[in-house]
Amino acid sequence: MTYIKGYSCTICGKFYETKAEMVLCPDCKDKGILEIEFDYEKIKTVFSKEVLKDNKDYSIWRYLPLLPVEEKYTKGSLRVGWTPLLESKNNELYQIKKLHFKDDGLNPTLSLKDRASVIACVKALENNNRTIACASTGNAASSLAGNAAKMGLKTVIFVPKRAPIGKLTQLLVFGANVIKVDGDYKKAFSLSKKAIEHFGWYNRNAAINPNLIEGKKTVALEIAEQLDFDVPDWVVVSVGDGCTIGGVYKGFYDLLQLNMIKKIPKILGVQALGCDPFYQAFINDKPLEETDEFTIADSIAVGIPRNPVKGLNAVKKSKGSYLVVSDEEIMKAMKLLAESEGIFAEPAASAAFAGFIKARSENLIKEEETVTVIITGNGLKDTKNALTILEEPVLLEDDLEELIRYFKKEKRG
Ligand SMILES: *Cc1c(COP(=O)(O)O)cnc(C)c1O
Ligand SMILES: [Zn+2]
Repeated sequence: MTYIKGYSCTICGKFYETKAEMVLCPDCKDKGILEIEFDYEKIKTVFSKEVLKDNKDYSIWRYLPLLPVEEKYTKGSLRVGWTPLLESKNNELYQIKKLHFKDDGLNPTLSLKDRASVIACVKALENNNRTIACASTGNAASSLAGNAAKMGLKTVIFVPKRAPIGKLTQLLVFGANVIKVDGDYKKAFSLSKKAIEHFGWYNRNAAINPNLIEGKKTVALEIAEQLDFDVPDWVVVSVGDGCTIGGVYKGFYDLLQLNMIKKIPKILGVQALGCDPFYQAFINDKPLEETDEFTIADSIAVGIPRNPVKGLNAVKKSKGSYLVVSDEEIMKAMKLLAESEGIFAEPAASAAFAGFIKARSENLIKEEETVTVIITGNGLKDTKNALTILEEPVLLEDDLEELIRYFKKEKRG
């Protein structure tokens, strides 16, 4: 059984009391993205801090009463979630009281997207649907391919002609049926939409499927639990479509309704300077407008975000903020994060850390506050961009004297 009460529309606000699966508001059509509403009073009877203490399932399934899925279909999935929350020892360097990194690059396919993809797989099984499809060049697709492989489901992934090689490799090795579409992402999306309707496949095109944000919210549930429910003042996360940040808000919102935390952290959404529709909408207090997609952070290069309402509400309702960082700041942050914390993050994930650094330099985040930065994807996803800022290693003969001269000259060793 699930504890769903119904669905409310993020556009017109109408509430639909039903347990039957809904995707879009019938009144608002394509724009009518729905929010799943839970019966918190019922959840309280089966879910608490004490229950969690005795729960040995270290995956997102430990939060089952707060998820829109049936337990029986969760068996046999990859182990998604319960990623490490690492405390930084560099408080002096960053001038901050307390800083944690939630390393979601350590999920099974190396990104936070696993939290949504595993839910999509379970929903497909519930609906007796053996094939899942999506259009993506990035982590949504590679995580779907991996999670589907484990659960015995087929995947059809539509990618634009020029897909990044690292993530394409993941798709192929997981055995996805990859269709290259002659054209850009919009063309790939368009064919996927027609094909999904024609063949009746399960749709993992993120934003519109309200189940997926519920998977992503588990990152917030974990941050809270790993901090003994003493949540930080700020949570920092990078933003593309707006689903991840929407999920972060929803997770803390749930816990507040259950009286398990005292406040919702302020949420800082970070975008790339060359692709910043949420930032523009937020600072100018107006609806989202399409922007260019000029950034190396491919996972957040989303000029037309598909979850505008949830992405803006997360920041507004938590009294947080949006800010932008340049590609140069992103790459600098990537290097610093790797060198001083031992975490290798892909550019989109490094953007969140760059955002934290900027927020400190502008004193948006105060020194006496506590912060958690979410690392949404692993650096091995994109070594090409990382190598552009790294030095080639030295090449020496098998000669100790030469090595000694090298260390003297370089003052290394
Ligand atoms: C998808 C993704 C994001 C942003 O999530 P949205 O839901 O698109 O806002 C950030 N970082 C990484 C690594 C991602 O894959
Ligand atoms: Zn509506």
